[in-house]
Amino acid sequence: MDARKLERFRGCEAFLACPVCGAPLALEGRALRCGAGHSFDVARQGYVNLLRGGHTGAGEYDRASFAARRRVFEAGLYAPIAEALAGAVAELVCAPASAGQGRGADAGVIAPAFALGEKGTLGETVAAGEKNAQPAPLVLDAGCGEGYFARAVRERTGAAVAAFDIAKDSVQLAAGAAAEDGVAWFVADLAAIPVQTGAAACVLNVFSPANYAEFARVLRPGGYVVKVVPTERHLQELRAAAGAQLAHDSYSNERVLRHFEERCELVVRRRVGATFELESDVAEALAAMTPLFFHVDAALVNMAVVSEVTVEADILVGRRA
Ligand SMILES: [Zn+2]
Repeated sequence: MDARKLERFRGCEAFLACPVCGAPLALEGRALRCGAGHSFDVARQGYVNLLRGGHTGAGEYDRASFAARRRVFEAGLYAPIAEALAGAVAELVCAPASAGQGRGADAGVIAPAFALGEKGTLGETVAAGEKNAQPAPLVLDAGCGEGYFARAVRERTGAAVAAFDIAKDSVQLAAGAAAEDGVAWFVADLAAIPVQTGAAACVLNVFSPANYAEFARVLRPGGYVVKVVPTERHLQELRAAAGAQLAHDSYSNERVLRHFEERCELVVRRRVGATFELESDVAEALAAMTPLFFHVDAALVNMAVVSEVTVEADILVGRRA
């Protein structure tokens, strides 16, 4: 196995909890072991399956759908969202002192810059932290899919990132993508995340269902949930092309937002996205990956008329009470 894939799990005893007994799990050889002797092998691709009973499910996201997602991510359609997400983590979690400035006493919804500085600037922030022997803050990605956003946050912020999904196929793809990514990848139950109580500074929840009670458990007091939800304009061109085949011809994330506000103190809501010209193969990959089309007969949709697409999301940042 590539040694860099084992290195992903070095030091994980600081936050990881055995799914059987809850004790810290540490890397020993090519497995993670707890003090009670429960052992979980690091798979060849560089992830660890921490699901009890081994019930992994991909649901409607099958392997072809994940490959399509990768093509869409490579085309850069989600790059503005990844950039904003990394900016939020950098500002709120990696450099909280500077993030506090300018926020003032207004507890309402504020749009911070989320402006990711030049890479060098961010690197200096992280390096300064290391000089003070501060361990990198822990960011969890709950529902990481094929890992695009977890990799982006790790690469751009230097935070320690552990990423979880219940779908083994997706975690295999995520872990196998880039040996040097420095992300610890796990197959796990998102209703019982195998992380010690209060260990995380931030939970990311990107285009994925939330379990707010579990997020609150793994977060330290004052930690953040950063949730990404599609807006009503997201993929509107695909929606129009599918037309009558869709049960709902519009979408609103207001209900998701209300639920979020009931469970966390909303500190930031920021809309981010762009409209892109589409290569035809990317249009087809997009149609293959989107849950919007899971119950649509793709053969009946004329993708040739889709020449551009809007990818847009709201980034919701909530503070753990
Ligand atoms: Zn154990």
